[in-house]
Amino acid sequence: MSALVQECRNCRSILFPDRLFCPFCGEDNFSPVEAGQGTVEQTTELSDGTVLATLSVGRGLSVIARLTGPAKPGQDVALTNDPYAATDVTAYIPLP
Ligand SMILES: [Zn+2]
Repeated sequence: MSALVQECRNCRSILFPDRLFCPFCGEDNFSPVEAGQGTVEQTTELSDGTVLATLSVGRGLSVIARLTGPAKPGQDVALTNDPYAATDVTAYIPLP
């Protein structure tokens, strides 16, 4: 299951979290697009055991997501908007 991110209909930049205006061209017309996976750049573990990761999604977009299992930098991980759908390691980002 992919995660939805925002794509500017004018310049095709992809954005997350959602914006009211595109920071690159200033337009306010967007479409939701699927981001299937990201590459883990770095991870950090919080005191409660939650693991957060910065992932490169491509086209210049990076997201911070919660990992549902262990992953190392350089590893490709599926992105999802559903934190409970995973049977494997995924990176969860909330719906806008
Ligand atoms: Zn734009």
